[in-house]
Parts: sequence; C-alpha cells; structure tokens
Amino acid sequence: MRDRVAIVTGASSGIGRVVAIHLAKLGARVVLISNESIRILEALEEVRAISPESEAFEADVTSFPCLEESVKLTLEKFGRIDILVNNAGITRDALLVRMSLADWERVLAVNLTSVFQLTRMILKPMMKARYGRIVNISSVVGVTGNPGQANYVASKAGLVGFSKSIALEIASRNITVNCVAPGFIATAMTDALNPKAKEAILSRIPMGAMGSPEDVAHAVAFLASERAGYITGETLHVNGGLYMG
Ligand code: NAD
Repeated sequence: MRDRVAIVTGASSGIGRVVAIHLAKLGARVVLISNESIRILEALEEVRAISPESEAFEADVTSFPCLEESVKLTLEKFGRIDILVNNAGITRDALLVRMSLADWERVLAVNLTSVFQLTRMILKPMMKARYGRIVNISSVVGVTGNPGQANYVASKAGLVGFSKSIALEIASRNITVNCVAPGFIATAMTDALNPKAKEAILSRIPMGAMGSPEDVAHAVAFLASERAGYITGETLHVNGGLYMG
C-alpha cells in the first residue's frame, strides 16, 4: 500500500483506530475522520509515528459540509484518494415499540446516509484514477437480525445492499466495494453491554471469545489491498464462527 491514500471514518477509537494504524503500517498515508476532537489527535499522533504524512479532520459524518471540506483538503494535500473505509457507527438500542423516531434517524444518518454522502464525494477522483477500494463496516447482526437493534440492523443490512449496487455501477473502473461484517469485537461499543448480555453472546460464539479490532483490521486491509482486486460486492464475516455466510 506504499503511497496509497486511505480515508478512515470513526478512526479515533475502537476498530477504526486500529484499521488506521494497520493501513499506516502497510505503507498508506491515512486520513482519519472522527467527531471526537481530543481522541482523533491522539490517534493521529499514533498513526503519524508510523506514516508521518497522515492527517486528521474533526468532522461529524452526518454533516455534509464537514465531509466535503475533509475530502477537499485531502485532495489538496495528496491529490488522490485510493481507499475509503466507512467505519463510523453508533447504536441507540431499544425495542421497536419504545424506539423514538430521533434514535431511528440518528443511527441511519451516522451509519448509512453518511456512507452514501462520502462515497459519492470520493467516487469522482477514484473514477478518474481508475483505481479504488471501498470497504464498508457492516455487522453480523445485519444478516441475523437482533432484538432491540432494529435501527442499527437496518443500517448495517442497508450497507450490504448499498455496497453491492455501487460495486456493480463501478466495477468496470477498477474500483471495488466490499463489506466487512464483524461479530462481537472488544471495543467501547460492546463494553456498554451488561455482563449478562456479554455472557449470553460469548456462549454462542464457537471460538469462545470476542474478536479484537486487529482481527477486523486484517480483513479490512486485505479488501483494501491491490491483491483483492477481483473481489467486489462481497461481505467478509469476521465473527469466530457465530454466523457463516
Ligand atoms: P467505537 O464506539 O469504539 O468507535 C466508533 C467510532 O465512530 C468512533 O471513532 C467515533 O468517534 C466515530 N463516530 C461515531 N459517530 C460519529 C459521527 N457522527 N461522526 C464521525 N465519527 C463518528 O465502536 P467500534 O466498535 O470500533 O465500531 C466501529 C464500527 O464497527 C461501527 O460501524 C460498528 O457498527 C461496527 N461494528 C462493531 C462491532 C463490535 O462488536 N464492536 C461489531 C460489528 C460492527
């Protein structure tokens, strides 16, 4: 990935941060995007220690102008965008009867609409360069469903359909669009689960343990690499055997 330019959203913590570090280790110049002002700078420091030209922008992915500015500045600095990892994501869990419209809309805006916006913005430069790798972070629950997560599951299933459609639209331009669907990965998102729920999940994972952000980062790096050039519209499951696609 030497000299490739990669944008990673939600890169200030959890999976996104480890993905950014991993891509940097493989030689990419990484642009980190997140809405967490202090943590994004800490993450940038870590990434710059490996890939000094890397950059970070504080941006809420639901803000069209913020995303547009980040893409503009990325193109001004590097003149290209080779890889986009749409990783930013949130949960606002509740059973459907108690789910507010605000929680539905917020999750869809962060997890899905932002991907539509950012992908549209980076497609032009990718098409011009006739090269691109887009990796969208879905979730195992996007294919299995999960009670209490109708908004989150709809967004993650939406990403799979979105990715397949765009993959078809731009396959001829040497741009691939794939998903990575993590199972249960030890991050802040799963820390929020109560111990009983965690135990119940662990008992269902054939490998008997939660995955690590590194497990996901390796899968992302593969799909973002030149060598994965004949794979598009796919979903790569990283879940310890919890679900087999
Ligand atoms: P996390 O909470 O540790 O990280 C989420 C990241 O997204 C943070 O950097 C946060 O700043 C960023 N983010 C959230 N809202 C944003 C916004 N409006 N604008 C910009 N950035 C925003 O969570 P994680 O576990 O690392 O999750 C990363 C991705 O992986 C998410 O899309 C999540 O749905 C997905 N995922 C996680 C798991 C898991 O078990 N942890 C499983 C399946 C899928």
